[in-house]
Amino acid sequence: MRWIRRLFVLIIVLAVVGLALIWTVVPGWIESGRNTVAEHDPYPVSEEAQALHDSIVVGDWHADSLLWQRDLLKRSERGQVDLPRLQEGGVALQVFTAVTKSPMGQNYDENSAEALDNITLLAFAQLWPIRTWDSLFERAMYQARKLQDFAERSDGAIRIVRSEDDLDAVLEARENGEEVLGALLGIEGSHPLEGNLANIDRLMEAGHRIFGLQHFFDNQLGGSLHGESNEGLSDFGRAVVRDLMDRPVIIDLAHSSPQVVEDVLDMTDFPLIVSHTGLHSHCATKRNLPDELLRRVADTGGVIGLGYWAEAACDDITPAGIAQMAVAAVEVLGDDHVSLGSDFDGSVGTAFDTSELPALTSAMLEAGLSEEQVTKIMGGNMVRVLRARLD
Ligand SMILES: [Zn+2]
Repeated sequence: MRWIRRLFVLIIVLAVVGLALIWTVVPGWIESGRNTVAEHDPYPVSEEAQALHDSIVVGDWHADSLLWQRDLLKRSERGQVDLPRLQEGGVALQVFTAVTKSPMGQNYDENSAEALDNITLLAFAQLWPIRTWDSLFERAMYQARKLQDFAERSDGAIRIVRSEDDLDAVLEARENGEEVLGALLGIEGSHPLEGNLANIDRLMEAGHRIFGLQHFFDNQLGGSLHGESNEGLSDFGRAVVRDLMDRPVIIDLAHSSPQVVEDVLDMTDFPLIVSHTGLHSHCATKRNLPDELLRRVADTGGVIGLGYWAEAACDDITPAGIAQMAVAAVEVLGDDHVSLGSDFDGSVGTAFDTSELPALTSAMLEAGLSEEQVTKIMGGNMVRVLRARLD
């Protein structure tokens, strides 16, 4: 019988070692393979560009940094965003978006809502609170809590922006030379509502102000750009949009099916955004909505955020490549409707991280955009839309 006992002990030891590995090494290992920055020589930044960059508001509509097991107050070798790198990049405003469900085998063409969920595995591997393991709502609340914790430990370097007053305070502090980051919270897809309109209040109390409607799969609100149905808004989706209309929040159409985008355009009369995308005429992938729809989003007074990864920008994802996309976007949409929406830390490979944003300013000037246009794209337009919607 002794061998049975030994076998039993061996199994327990292996299980403990396995869990220890899952809870320590695996999360970092997963992220290292997902949020990559290609090796590169330093990008050129002209003196003129650095001076402009230092004088303007730089803002980004979309980063998924809260998904990963990292202390964002410390500079990391992994990923593309943390506080030290945001400060080095001169970033004033950063939206942190809560990803709550992502289908295994995720792709831009077609995903099933029933597929095994990567975030369940990530929540377990990163030892998120047990309540998050089977609740998308709790995952959105938990990621908001994470940002609050970072803000509380940051000695005032991170302030969460929930209102126009908060926004003004951050911009004023920066004008007085304080290196303050205004952080906004959003959800990537409104499945964390779990079908319950009352959860909008709770998400807003936690600080969420940017509401994406879909992510990679069709949800209770309607069709995804990468789902199976291609449908527009469901009855519940319409109820959510109607509810959000009267609230000081921004509606984000990134990842929504073209029909959902049209339905929301028909229902609303305020600035809308597509937080992270490319332009179909510049880069003809499934990920990028037709120009015509983006033009209608621009017509609301809204913006699209330019993403820095291959399927949004095509070929060249260096600062010079993103600058070319900016030029194309200005041509199609006008310079009042183009913003930044990096998708940093969103399981994307890029060729620069957020500390290198002065190189993007430089590349845009180099590509022929005027100082005024660059000022709008780098953050001015984002501030305008936030002011139009926050209270
Ligand atoms: Zn996304």
